[in-house]
Amino acid sequence: MSVKTTITGAFDILLTAEAPLMMNKYQRAGYLFRISIRLLWLVFLALINPVVAQEELPIINHIVQPGDTWPALAWRFGMDESDIRSANFHINAQRQPVIGSGVIIPNSTGVERTGKMLNVNNGGLLQQAIIHNSNVWLLSLLNDHSHPYRPLLYRPIFIPVGQDPPRQYPEGFSSLELSSIPSQPGQGLAIRAQLKEELVIKTSYFHLPVNTFVKDHRLIGIFGTGAFFKEGDHELSILPENGPLWSQPWRMVPGEWTFEDITLTGEAAAIDAESIKLERERLAAIWNQAQGLPLWNSPFQQPIEEYLSNSSDYGARRSYNGGPYQSYHEGVDFSAYGGTPVYSPAEGTIVLAERLFVRGGAVLIDHGFGIFSGVYHLSEVLVQPGQDVDKGEMVGKVGSTGLSTGNHLHWDMLIGGTWIDAEEWLVSNLACWILDGWDQPCLVE
Ligand SMILES: [Zn+2]
Repeated sequence: MSVKTTITGAFDILLTAEAPLMMNKYQRAGYLFRISIRLLWLVFLALINPVVAQEELPIINHIVQPGDTWPALAWRFGMDESDIRSANFHINAQRQPVIGSGVIIPNSTGVERTGKMLNVNNGGLLQQAIIHNSNVWLLSLLNDHSHPYRPLLYRPIFIPVGQDPPRQYPEGFSSLELSSIPSQPGQGLAIRAQLKEELVIKTSYFHLPVNTFVKDHRLIGIFGTGAFFKEGDHELSILPENGPLWSQPWRMVPGEWTFEDITLTGEAAAIDAESIKLERERLAAIWNQAQGLPLWNSPFQQPIEEYLSNSSDYGARRSYNGGPYQSYHEGVDFSAYGGTPVYSPAEGTIVLAERLFVRGGAVLIDHGFGIFSGVYHLSEVLVQPGQDVDKGEMVGKVGSTGLSTGNHLHWDMLIGGTWIDAEEWLVSNLACWILDGWDQPCLVE
């Protein structure tokens, strides 16, 4: 549940990201309408539930993975596509199933088959029979094809020796994994894949471009959504050079946030908005750069070891002097004694080390792949721009410089210019998941 607090103690007062457009009355009406439909649906489900419960075979609630199309699901669970579609009649059948959502697999034997999808470029059943040391008559029998030379394109075929999961991946992909199913606003998100050949690929999620890197048949896509990103079944789109567009919705579920009421008085209330904007624009130019390789080689760590409390969370909705909650806290604050050492959370290169107006003593570290860490309000900055740092190397000391109400460390992380929840990044261990996808070891002490 959300907790509403009046924030006290040591924190920064203006390190917040703006809300997108607020809801107008039509959007509000639409929202209420959708909520009512959902409630009616729940009542309906409760009414039909006893009927469903009488079925003998178990019903599986399958969580949709990338490449799980309707025909692929039907094949894997050994049933007719029409049976799966009618069991999921509340889902729009014109769309692919949503990654991270649940689909009902009725009367399932509970056995998942392995095999592969037959695509246009696979050359038909005969070629598959040769590749897999089988024969067309056997494959035809196993797959209920009335004629061995007329298999249906885009339908999975069962090949007894095949181990590939029958999923429909983008053209030229032999695997595709998403870091978090479903995902939440504010998370750092990543895609990793193996390619059959090296391709130039454009990737996006909803309207967000995804920084995509390819090396030796391996692909990494990485992006941040921000704490105001709206929930929903947004399309993940992958467009290989010369290939057809592949897209499948990837569910984003709502996050949970704290609410902070901040009272600005005197000097702080009269802050020069132009200086704040200029500082942000200068940093954004750095944050939007992306080096095509990871500079880290082990899991990230917190940049501070000794602190008194977490005085403000990432994503906390902030209201100033009783106004609307239209901005959120971009980082995480650690209340600590002045002079406490501040370390680099991972290997990287220092791209900024100086005193700023809002952020005070500031150090910005480039970790590669468009990932940056910032530590702010430092009383002392101990590194220089251009310097390479190790994980755990001291970069400064806690202070209360810039717009700050007391000694504390503000740590933020960005991917592709968007703030992500740094604490969640540590818990998810995405840093190692990405290195693994890039075929690089992740050194764990
Ligand atoms: Zn802060």
